[in-house]
Amino acid sequence: MTNIAPDRALARQACPKHMTHGPCAGVTDGGACEVPSAGMCPYPLEWSFDTAIGERLRLPKPFVLTDLPAVPLDTAALRASARLLSGTADAFLLGDHGGERVQFPPSYRARVLADEGLAAWPGINCRDRNRVALEGELAACRDAGAAGVHCITGDHPALGHRPDAAAVFDLDSVELTALARRLDLIVSVAHAPAAPPAAVRLPRALTKIAAGADIVVVDHCGGPERVHAAAEELRAAGFTGTVLACVPVATDAFSAAVLAGFAGGRLPPGYLAGIYEAPDPRVAGIAAAVELARALLSHPGIDGVNLSGGTRSGQELAIARDLATIGRELRP
Ligand code: SF4
Repeated sequence: MTNIAPDRALARQACPKHMTHGPCAGVTDGGACEVPSAGMCPYPLEWSFDTAIGERLRLPKPFVLTDLPAVPLDTAALRASARLLSGTADAFLLGDHGGERVQFPPSYRARVLADEGLAAWPGINCRDRNRVALEGELAACRDAGAAGVHCITGDHPALGHRPDAAAVFDLDSVELTALARRLDLIVSVAHAPAAPPAAVRLPRALTKIAAGADIVVVDHCGGPERVHAAAEELRAAGFTGTVLACVPVATDAFSAAVLAGFAGGRLPPGYLAGIYEAPDPRVAGIAAAVELARALLSHPGIDGVNLSGGTRSGQELAIARDLATIGRELRP
């Protein structure tokens, strides 16, 4: 039984995701819950964290982790994207998004990528599986040859295209991280320094590290200076593991609009406008991503990047091709 302070216990009761280690990064700028019907996010602003931050894995630099866009529920399409991206990154992040909740299980996708010679990095969320199913899925990812797993709480099903689905949230990202570590997996976690309430974000990231995270993926939080500052904060707190910085990839009006929708205020100033207004948004988007990645990697506290962007249905291969072009530029 987890022992948590009374105000946190009350917050957990009110949270639609029942998080022990809340708040999630879905808090709105005004302090409301990501689920509109839930009202204000109830978590207190004080945070304490387990100080047991031991040595963590430092991957070779620069480490490139790239999203692998592919038509969902289609093995041939997954293989086609994998072949396009082969050799352009160190590992490939397999996630989902609100418009495409139904995906092949992470372990199955990891196995397909392994067959193609690619290192998979499946995203594992707490939305869709209880702790027993997560334990089996993590074990299957390890067995399928996944290079690591990205452990997140996940957004609430009310936000996606399957609001009919029950919200599970038997664990949260911190508990999932600890479980994955117990299963001997390499674990990455998200850190969103600019998400409200910003004051809790660093101690929350440190709690994930204390739970066993090897790799911290720093979310969009402004230009390189702010990301570098976030890396310095993690290092100053004793984190010796790998820090990856998110690089937003937009190569057409649609992907730029997707990025503007969920991260517009947290991207480097003028980043999207430069792509929108360019005569060739694809060329401009690739150049902008490469330039930003290099600026992020110029800091000794940043070990690598995560290339990610929005994908329109039917454009998965085109985006994969662009991600491959960017990855080739960044790898030695
Ligand atoms: S914003 Fe996140 S942590 Fe806060 S109440 Fe909503 S779901 Fe829970």
